[in-house]
Amino acid sequence: MKTTVIGLGLIGGSMAIDLRKAGVATSLTGVERSDVHANRALELGLVDQIQTEGNLADADLILVSIPVNAVNALLPGLLDTIGKDTVIIDVGSTKTAICKSVRNHPRRSNFVAAHPIAGTENSGPDAAFAGLFTNKTNIICERELSSENALSVALKVFDALGMRTIFMDPEEHDRHVAYVSHLSHVSSFLLGQTVLDIEKDEKNIFNLAGSGFASTVRLAKSSPQMWAPIFEQNAEYLSQALLEYIMHLQRFHYHLMKHDTRELQRIMNGANDIRRILDGIELKQKGNTSK
Ligand code: NAP
Repeated sequence: MKTTVIGLGLIGGSMAIDLRKAGVATSLTGVERSDVHANRALELGLVDQIQTEGNLADADLILVSIPVNAVNALLPGLLDTIGKDTVIIDVGSTKTAICKSVRNHPRRSNFVAAHPIAGTENSGPDAAFAGLFTNKTNIICERELSSENALSVALKVFDALGMRTIFMDPEEHDRHVAYVSHLSHVSSFLLGQTVLDIEKDEKNIFNLAGSGFASTVRLAKSSPQMWAPIFEQNAEYLSQALLEYIMHLQRFHYHLMKHDTRELQRIMNGANDIRRILDGIELKQKGNTSK
């Protein structure tokens, strides 16, 4: 398939690498805002060429991998200009606002709203790598509004990336990811900020930081340019998740002040149950790899 990737960062670049490898993308064209990143993407061989202007009617497949507010702004106009059989897939981390932006568009059926759940804290073309998506889950929303052809192209793409696809409605998607993804990013950004505020002498942070701190605060290195629009679009569900998190923090603080060590231990014993869930996920992934 003649494939165009709009946004050659971590996600768009990594998709380009694996789709070329799998033979799904027979030619790859990139669309990039900055010349520096466009040239870097070419140097890295993520795409064969960069298209700077003109319409994209020629492509069989267009992957939209830019911040979610930019997806909203771009998508309706993009659908206006594509070829009759061109399929557009977006990979944005929120789905309600994006789906709404094209719900009544006459070419809606050419579009598939997806969210491949895989990533790192790094961004830009240099962050892209092969195998990012292997054995991870992809979510497709409003499958009933995509044509049979568009859906089968999307499944071919995500299968080639080694992903398992599940289907959800956009609101359900946004509610779930508010807890398992967006809240952990907020929590990490503000843990980083809390420590930075207290430890003005950065050398001390560096000297004392163990692997526990580094792994808990890893997500605070993520791109604010990408995450701020996600938080904005998912403000309602994220607010709900944050309030619950704050309630847990306040409860912990209360027992800490009461020197109620037994209760603190009980809370942590409860939280240890996360091991069961994470071990289950790991086992499932190992099972998929050995298949
Ligand atoms: P990234 O590495 O920062 O790449 C973003 C790309 O979008 C870059 O090519 C950037 O161009 C371009 N861009 C930035 N602002 C833009 C704007 N206003 N208009 C047009 N293009 C713009 O980000 P990413 O991690 O690949 O994320 C891309 C999409 O994937 C987002 O929708 C995100 O929600 C979704 N996603 C991310 C993850 C994750 O964990 N990172 C996981 C799943 C899905 P320049 O290089 O010129 O700035």
